Amino acid sequence: MIDVHAHLCFPDFDKDMEEVIARCKEELAGVIVSSARCDEGLKALETCSEHPDFLFPTLGFHPTEGTEYEKVIELIKNNPGKVVGVGEVGLDYHWEKDPRKREAQKEIFLKFIKLAQNLRKPLVIHSWDAERDCYEMVKDSGLVCVFHCFSGDNVLAEEIVKNRDFYISISTQVLFSKNTRKIAKNVPFDQFLLETDAPFLSPNKDTDRRNYPWNIKLSARKIAELKSIKFEEVMEKAKENAVKVFDLKIDRA
Ligand SMILES: [Zn+2]
Repeated sequence: MIDVHAHLCFPDFDKDMEEVIARCKEELAGVIVSSARCDEGLKALETCSEHPDFLFPTLGFHPTEGTEYEKVIELIKNNPGKVVGVGEVGLDYHWEKDPRKREAQKEIFLKFIKLAQNLRKPLVIHSWDAERDCYEMVKDSGLVCVFHCFSGDNVLAEEIVKNRDFYISISTQVLFSKNTRKIAKNVPFDQFLLETDAPFLSPNKDTDRRNYPWNIKLSARKIAELKSIKFEEVMEKAKENAVKVFDLKIDRA
């Protein structure tokens, strides 16, 4: 089982990152280490190189981080063999209401779309409250696309999965969001992925504000219940899909 989106290089894990990784290795087959800034990307490259065949980096630039995205583009271009995907990148209308700044986000997003096309890498998309615009920008891109932490509506989800190279990544929100449950119930089995977005979206906020990659098992249980299938089947399929999307070489079950 693979968590396809965890920010293990976020400062929240500074204190005990190695312990967290050790437990991930006990419980999972791999983790995609997502990044959204240059410093985080650098750290992700370094950390993943210490755990080959288990941790895999994707490098991106969060839409609300401003304009210093060139450094991230350079970093990806300089490490094409190490990076398994471009992202997270995309649009964020939740935090950005200014129409001019939203246009600026689109320009930056387009540069990352082109980069992913040139490098033939999957694109990991951040689309908070901008799901429709993100979809419009990638629908004819020819890319393999992962709609990370998808929280759009079911109508759009159905449109997205008509493209067999597009995947909807179900986060641990499935444990507490009605909308995510609806999406999870309907998404085709060949086109879903599991992620935590750790340290965010903790399903146990009262006891631990951090989320951890192994919590995808809780999501898998919930999805098994929603789809009336076996938990093991959900785990296995989520792994199979992740290996396919990111072309992973993993060495554990
Ligand atoms: Zn993220």
